Amino acid sequence: MTCPACGKGRAFEKYLKVVHQCEACGEELHHHRADDAPPYFTMSIVGHIVIAGVLMLEDLYAPPTWVHTVIWGPMVVLLSLWMLPRIKGALVGLQWAFRMHGFGGKGDAGEISLEPRHTT
Ligand SMILES: [Zn+2]
Repeated sequence: MTCPACGKGRAFEKYLKVVHQCEACGEELHHHRADDAPPYFTMSIVGHIVIAGVLMLEDLYAPPTWVHTVIWGPMVVLLSLWMLPRIKGALVGLQWAFRMHGFGGKGDAGEISLEPRHTT
C-alpha cells in the first residue's frame, strides 16, 4: 500500500500500522480514523465469499464435514489476513480523498468544541 497523495511512499510501517507521515512527499497520514471499519468490511466480504463457497460445495458434492473444515478454515484466516490491510488502505485513502478527519487541514465538522459558544 502506498501513500494516497504521491503513490510512492509507504502508507504502512507495519502490517496495519499507518505511517505518521509519508516519507516521500511528507503528507500527514495520522489523521485517518479507520477504527473498526476495516475488520467490519473484511468480515462482511470474507463471510459472503466463504458462505457462498460452503453452500455451493455442499450443494454440488455434499462432502464430509472434515473436507469443509480443511478448505474453509484456512481460507477464512488467509483471506482475512490478506484483505485487512488492503481494505484499511482503501479506507484511509478514501478519508484522505474526501478530506475527512483533518486531512484537509481542518478538524472534523462534527467535532465537539470545548470553547464556549458565542451568541449575540
Ligand atoms: Zn506521499
